[in-house]
Amino acid sequence: MRLRLQGAKINKAKKGELRCSPPTGYVYDSEGKLVLDPDEGVVAAIELAFQKFRELRTAFKVMRYFCVNQIPFPRRRWRPGDIGTLHWGPANLSRITALLHNPTYTGTYVYGRRRSFNVIEAGQIKKVKIQQLPQEEWKVIIHNAHEAYISWPEYLSNCERLRHNCPISLSDGCPGTPREGFALLQGLVICGKCGRRMSPRYHGTGGCRAAYECTQARKQDGSVGACWSVAGAAIDTAVSVHVLSAFTDEQLDISLAVLSELENIADEADKTWQLRLERVRYEAERAFRQYDATEPENRLVARTLERRWNEKLQILAELEEAYQKARQVQRLELTAVQRQQILQLANDIPTLWHASTTTNLERKEILGLLVKQVAITPIDAPSRSTRVQILWHTGVTSELIATRPTNAEKFRTPNGVIQLIEELAVGRTDSEIAHELNRRGLVGGSGRAFTKKGVAWIRWKFGIEKPLSNPQVAHLGVSPEGYYSTSALALKLGVGIHTVYYWRDKGIIQAFQETPRSPWWYIVTPEVLETLREKIRRVPVKSE
Ligand SMILES: [Zn+2]
Repeated sequence: MRLRLQGAKINKAKKGELRCSPPTGYVYDSEGKLVLDPDEGVVAAIELAFQKFRELRTAFKVMRYFCVNQIPFPRRRWRPGDIGTLHWGPANLSRITALLHNPTYTGTYVYGRRRSFNVIEAGQIKKVKIQQLPQEEWKVIIHNAHEAYISWPEYLSNCERLRHNCPISLSDGCPGTPREGFALLQGLVICGKCGRRMSPRYHGTGGCRAAYECTQARKQDGSVGACWSVAGAAIDTAVSVHVLSAFTDEQLDISLAVLSELENIADEADKTWQLRLERVRYEAERAFRQYDATEPENRLVARTLERRWNEKLQILAELEEAYQKARQVQRLELTAVQRQQILQLANDIPTLWHASTTTNLERKEILGLLVKQVAITPIDAPSRSTRVQILWHTGVTSELIATRPTNAEKFRTPNGVIQLIEELAVGRTDSEIAHELNRRGLVGGSGRAFTKKGVAWIRWKFGIEKPLSNPQVAHLGVSPEGYYSTSALALKLGVGIHTVYYWRDKGIIQAFQETPRSPWWYIVTPEVLETLREKIRRVPVKSE
């Protein structure tokens, strides 16, 4: 039946006779033909929109032109009870783009531009989704069907233009799509100032730096400039550190303790139920015994006792039913093994997060599983920062403060990173330091991953020396930290270098190499020295 109706609809459409709600700028005349709107104001506004797009080239600028010059935009509504009434209001972006995308304005009759399909969710038809079809798949196209505002070629070039203007977005395959990865909180961030959704924007070479911007207001009414925007790195880091800290053993221990407390409460409740049941059972039995004990001649008493016994049985049945229901409310019982598994899993998540094989897309997924929304608000006093409020899926909220760098500061290497490089500089090459920083998910001032050269530059800029590359240390073979070269150590103890090698291979003394083929350095503390001297005293070693 539906198919036949659909077929009839398409047949009618093929003749250009199927009437749909016309776009603003057109109405049906008394004969049912599509004609230009009799209101000249409407026609003028539509023509102006097309003319401005020819000049200004973007739908956004057209919308802003209307808003800034306070030119109202018409709209005819075609809803039941509101058929064909004309409304004037501010132009907004979606209406301007809809106008530019609509082929009807070329005088062409089109049917089947969209397809709707039902979505089945949890076994139920939930909603109808509308999908725009490419032009080749439109069912009916009849040119010169009615009067036109613009030509067909102009329409096609407008569509091409709009597609080209399409802002960078992560969801589609635009050529400008940045490398997957930055703006971890994409889709979660809400503007704390106006409550609108904030979207990520990418700057820098290859879109390597992310910022969160609140621009929804601009799209609505052409307000100039964004509500506010903020560099993403500091906020991403603050949120991910906070989320990962939720996985510490302590936090989980508390959660598990609360769980077992709940189990105890459930056990208590069960005991209360058992007591109530026992009492009612006893009463029912007693009522039966009393009834059973009456002489058959004493009918009046027997009838009363029988009624009482039945009442007790009824109460017992009801109570048992209620108890079964209460028991069905599922209880989470954890065995010791399960607790251990949960703790283990929680330990794995930070490792998984930092693993170099984990992509930022996967980190986004982990965040999305835990966090529902993140509201961010700029704060200027007592210091320039961002208030970050996290709404977890559990309904709990947490609040933190992230630094909000000024434009100049954005390019600086964060202080924490510099400190870390200082710590890591000992016993590691620049490549190894870069690798370690990347493994911890840190980024430099440019928002990019660290490289060997980048680390060398930061070390040079902040005067962080690697002790072993100091020429004097290289010459003497002894560093202030107590690292000895093989020959320096052999000399100090009066043994041959092969003895030192022997101790190293046996693990008697700790040693490291800066790179696989570079010289060995020995970590020598006073205790180590004493141990080694003791060895020399006990086992006479031939000197070479
Ligand atoms: Zn806002």
